[in-house]
Amino acid sequence: MRENVSSLKNVPLSDFCTYHTGGKARSLKIVYDIEGLLETAQGEYVVIGCGSKLLISDKGFDGKVILMRLSGMKLTESGVYAYSGVPLPALSRYCESNSLKGLEWASGIPGSVGGAVKLNAGAFGKSVSDVLRYVDVLKNGKIERLLRKDITFGYRTSDISDIIVGAEFECERTDEDMSALRKRYFSLRRATQPRGFSCGSVFKNAEKPAGWYIEQAGLKGLAQGGAIISEKHANFIINTGFASSQDIFTLIRAAKAEVKSKFDVSLTEEVIYLGEFY
Ligand SMILES: Cc1cc2nc3c(=O)[nH]c(=O)nc-3n(C[C@H](O)[C@H](O)[C@H](O)COP(=O)(O)OP(=O)(O)OC[C@H]3O[C@@H](n4cnc5c(N)ncnc54)[C@H](O)[C@@H]3O)c2cc1C
Repeated sequence: MRENVSSLKNVPLSDFCTYHTGGKARSLKIVYDIEGLLETAQGEYVVIGCGSKLLISDKGFDGKVILMRLSGMKLTESGVYAYSGVPLPALSRYCESNSLKGLEWASGIPGSVGGAVKLNAGAFGKSVSDVLRYVDVLKNGKIERLLRKDITFGYRTSDISDIIVGAEFECERTDEDMSALRKRYFSLRRATQPRGFSCGSVFKNAEKPAGWYIEQAGLKGLAQGGAIISEKHANFIINTGFASSQDIFTLIRAAKAEVKSKFDVSLTEEVIYLGEFY
């Protein structure tokens, strides 16, 4: 039988993020169920879901990392409930196979339910906050339920500060061909976004899309070590295979400086840093 938690020491965090860069974690706890979570979520820690919004320092992280792998989904009266470690593409497919509409836009986002709720992930004009009913969080050793109306969401932000355990999403039964819709969204993504190791959009949009400023500043194709500002979409920085996190960070700094100097616009990061950068 599987344990509730796997405890690992000095583990390369590059295995747990979509950039595939970064150093080691001193302590990594992989949590598979609520019991394991209750046992592990003590003291100081950071939570990683799918690591698809993270840039992890090459020096690693000298603290405890909880890797969220709570799994399971179920149909509810209003839609679907999913535990926080469920990948969004899996949730979206589950909805599709149950003829539920509401989360099809999320099928190409490589994050977990927990990370998506925390960051109010979105695509094609929809975001988590449009379909969320409630979130279960771990607060002071107990599971508490936060209703949608009690949470403040912004553009790729929420004010949730506790560990997300699971969430219910409102979805409707439909006769529409959800598979066709998912494929349409997928093709749109393929047409506009580059392939390769990335964190999706690096910067938040300002008055205009962040990629517009970076492109107009002539930075498409700018490379540092194994990292490059994508030719296809300037708000993506790609690890071509041998980048360090520092290479990616150097390009982030260069893009911010150039955009500031050319347009007097201060781009802010959507990517989240873990560990030290200099
Ligand atoms: C190719 C690609 C395309 C993308 N496209 C999109 C897109 O279209 N739209 C979009 O919004 N994003 C997109 N992203 C970004 C990313 O997938 C989302 O932000 C996703 O929601 C992050 O989830 P995660 O589990 O990977 O979070 P992580 O990167 O693991 O963590 C992000 C933050 O959430 C916190 N967190 C994670 N899990 C929990 C939890 N259970 N409880 C509390 N806090 C938690 C972490 O501590 C961290 O602060 C894309 C990324 C890639 C690589």
